[in-house]
Amino acid sequence: MYTITSDEIRTIFLEYFQKHNHKKIAESSVIPENDPTLLFINSGMAPLKNYFTGEEVPPASNLCNIQPCIRTIDIDEIGDRHHLTSFEMLGSWSFNNYFKEDAIKLAFELLTEGLKIPKEKLYATVFMGSKELNLEPDTESIEIWQKAGMDRSHIVPQPFEDNFWGPTAETGPCGPCTEVFYDTGEEYGEAYTEGGEFDTRKRYIEIWNAGVFMQLNKMSDGTYEPLKFKSVDTGAGLERLTMTLNKLNSVYEIDSLRPIVDIIKNQCTSLSPESDIPESKINILSDHLRTVTILLAAGAVPGNAGRGYIPRKLIRKCCTILAKYKVDNFNYKEVINKIIEHYNKYYGHFEKNRNQIFSVFNKEVEGYSAVLEEGTARIEKMCGGLTAISGKDAFVLVTSYGLPFDFIQEYAAEHGMTIDKEEYDNEIKHHKEISKIGLNEEGGNGSSLPALKGLAENFAKTGFTGYEELSCKAHIIGIIKDNAEAELAAANEQAIIITDKSCFYAESGGQIADTGTISAGNMQLEVTDVKKAEEVFFHFAKVISGEVRVDQAVDMIVDSERRTKIEANHSAVHLLQKALRIYLGESVKQAGSLVTDDRLRFDFQCDKKLEADVLDLIEATVNEYIRRDYVREVQETSYEQAVKEGALAFFSNKYSDVVRMVSFGEVSKELCGGTHIASTGKIGFCKIISEESAGRGIRRIVALTGSEAVRYVQEEIKLLNEIAAKLKTGKKQILSKLDTLGTKKEQPEEAAFTVMTKEQTAKSTLQSSKGTAYITREYPAMTDEVRDEAIRVAELIRGVVCFYSIVDDKVQITIAIDKELSKSCNANGVIKSALAYLDGKGGGSAYLARGSGNNAGGLKDMLEGFKTLF
Ligand code: ATP
Ligand code: MG
Repeated sequence: MYTITSDEIRTIFLEYFQKHNHKKIAESSVIPENDPTLLFINSGMAPLKNYFTGEEVPPASNLCNIQPCIRTIDIDEIGDRHHLTSFEMLGSWSFNNYFKEDAIKLAFELLTEGLKIPKEKLYATVFMGSKELNLEPDTESIEIWQKAGMDRSHIVPQPFEDNFWGPTAETGPCGPCTEVFYDTGEEYGEAYTEGGEFDTRKRYIEIWNAGVFMQLNKMSDGTYEPLKFKSVDTGAGLERLTMTLNKLNSVYEIDSLRPIVDIIKNQCTSLSPESDIPESKINILSDHLRTVTILLAAGAVPGNAGRGYIPRKLIRKCCTILAKYKVDNFNYKEVINKIIEHYNKYYGHFEKNRNQIFSVFNKEVEGYSAVLEEGTARIEKMCGGLTAISGKDAFVLVTSYGLPFDFIQEYAAEHGMTIDKEEYDNEIKHHKEISKIGLNEEGGNGSSLPALKGLAENFAKTGFTGYEELSCKAHIIGIIKDNAEAELAAANEQAIIITDKSCFYAESGGQIADTGTISAGNMQLEVTDVKKAEEVFFHFAKVISGEVRVDQAVDMIVDSERRTKIEANHSAVHLLQKALRIYLGESVKQAGSLVTDDRLRFDFQCDKKLEADVLDLIEATVNEYIRRDYVREVQETSYEQAVKEGALAFFSNKYSDVVRMVSFGEVSKELCGGTHIASTGKIGFCKIISEESAGRGIRRIVALTGSEAVRYVQEEIKLLNEIAAKLKTGKKQILSKLDTLGTKKEQPEEAAFTVMTKEQTAKSTLQSSKGTAYITREYPAMTDEVRDEAIRVAELIRGVVCFYSIVDDKVQITIAIDKELSKSCNANGVIKSALAYLDGKGGGSAYLARGSGNNAGGLKDMLEGFKTLF
């Protein structure tokens, strides 16, 4: 029935780009990581943003993949031929490699040869330039399309609004783009003639943004400068390609959507035979349930604000449609199961999260049934018997009773009433900024920073005193309650409090906010969260007793025990960062961190999993720094001076003239606005509890400190004791006991021994020390610091360390051995064996030896040799 299936298109696309030297990369979750500016991943390039700015290095110059996307901006288009809220984007990219010429050629070839589209069916739009913005027309692309084989009459110049992309912020990379359209034929409208209207809503369907050509940098004064580092971003909609290539009327007829549409249609007609539910509504249900399933599979939780609002809105819309057409007892399960079955073929997390998807979905639908019931009663009460619903009433029904505006509109239509939509829109606009910062169900806040920013303009900056003190006297200068500014808040109410100064740390730089109390006389507020925007602090609080008023003089007290735990975790992050740099190299770059009172999380760029022994070393080093009890020092200085002193600074463009440098002895210096423990000894103990991937090229370490770390270790040991008791043996005998119980123990690799038996030199000088801990690692140069580090690490692991560097084909090595161990395993002996591979010379003491050799080619065998010796 289909001339080409969506599966075939997937394969043709990926194989084509891989054949043309593009590396296929994994897709990202639709919920963005570390990007608060984006609601959901809405294009293939969104998760790769840092590759375009140069902040991160891509794994290859040319990439491709298939990325699930969510476009909330298209919600109102749903029901037309070609817009979906969720779709899969076929993407290809080139960073600082090929540009317009190759991009257009690749696109044309794939479309006409790979996908066999007759070229008469294809049209390309190009940027026509803008005199006003002083931007040249993209004549280059016109020429390249023509050269590739496209007729000039099929190339359509379009204005800035249509064919110029970016930047995503005020400034940054941007450029013209060229988009490919498919002509779906005369039954869908007039043919395009040069200079006439190019109808992209019905007849000509955009299938591929075949090249966003990032070639300009928008400056803060609004001018554009050429970019040094050019790149190409392309994206094609899989559903639209499947639709057009099969000459279908809409995306709802394609192979992956048709079965969903059919299930919904069958159910609606059998559950409510009389109600004539239109096809457009069936399509909306299919689209929305698909998107909801994708979001829930990715871990989204419906809520009133931010990311949670979208699945809630979509689910409510589906319920409202079904209620309107009197389809009772709709079997969502059958539909969602079909969606899971489809997506699980490509993305394994759908099946894994099946239970979660259903439990969240069912709870939301049940909750909404209650809302609908109460809302219908309320609407009857407020508007029954009237001929019009005022904008204000509609606003109250939406915001206070959770009824979707569509529902109210339909109610009005059914009862022959009008709605004052203009008044409603004004109400919404008026309250928009404030309503965004409303408290959410969990008592936290659903505030988004842009919303707080708007509000911050109304208040003076808050003086932060929390570096020096944990309590202070202050004045209340603002209260926000029920989404509006208020003069007072009474017992049991929730409110946002703004004061002239504050000792509460507001969430920033990965450190969570302080909690505590604000009080005056019998009035007491419990502060649960603090956010800041434009230096104004917003304290999210609940009134426990009395009444809080603007202008009141208050005492602010931070929960000091909790603050100390947060500080211990934050300082441990700095020490961890230093230890990581020792073992993984100076290039370790922070990718994000989270510091709370019960744990710390540190994300950093690294391609591979850390070996368990390296992780042990890192943990041991952090604990040694803790024992050395370095005193915290804070210095305010210029950015340049701080960097000169070796401070770690990662996001250099974000620093102001005066920066805050936090140091612990000589081991750690970082630019940091967070709060820190007075001396490292107070951290007590740090335990790494996990190391895992946190996205492409990013590893995540989670660790505990102080009493949390102690408790964790105790629980682990308790578990071990219990296992030993179950096996009726001692802890240390568990493994041998398991062996005797028949568990297969891995044999040491024989292969390494065979390599080595040929290298008699190395073996003969040493007694066998199999089982000794050892580590080998390359450094840029063999400095005294590296030598000291080698001695320290050898003691830490009670083993053998070989650090080496290669400069101009010359290898330098340092061997350090734990002093106790060196009585039986001499560093002089080890280095002689090692140098035999390098044609080198050297020597030293029993625990430290150094040497160098000219045969860098022997290094690999030398490192292999280590494997067989220890
Ligand atoms: P349109 O103008 O048709 O909404 P767009 O310009 O927003 O498309 P791009 O942002 O360039 O689209 O996205 C690249 C490709 O992704 C498009 O060429 C199209 O094939 C696909 N696409 C975009 N939006 C949707 C959508 N809502 N549903 C399905 N596919 C889409
Ligand atoms: Mg669009």
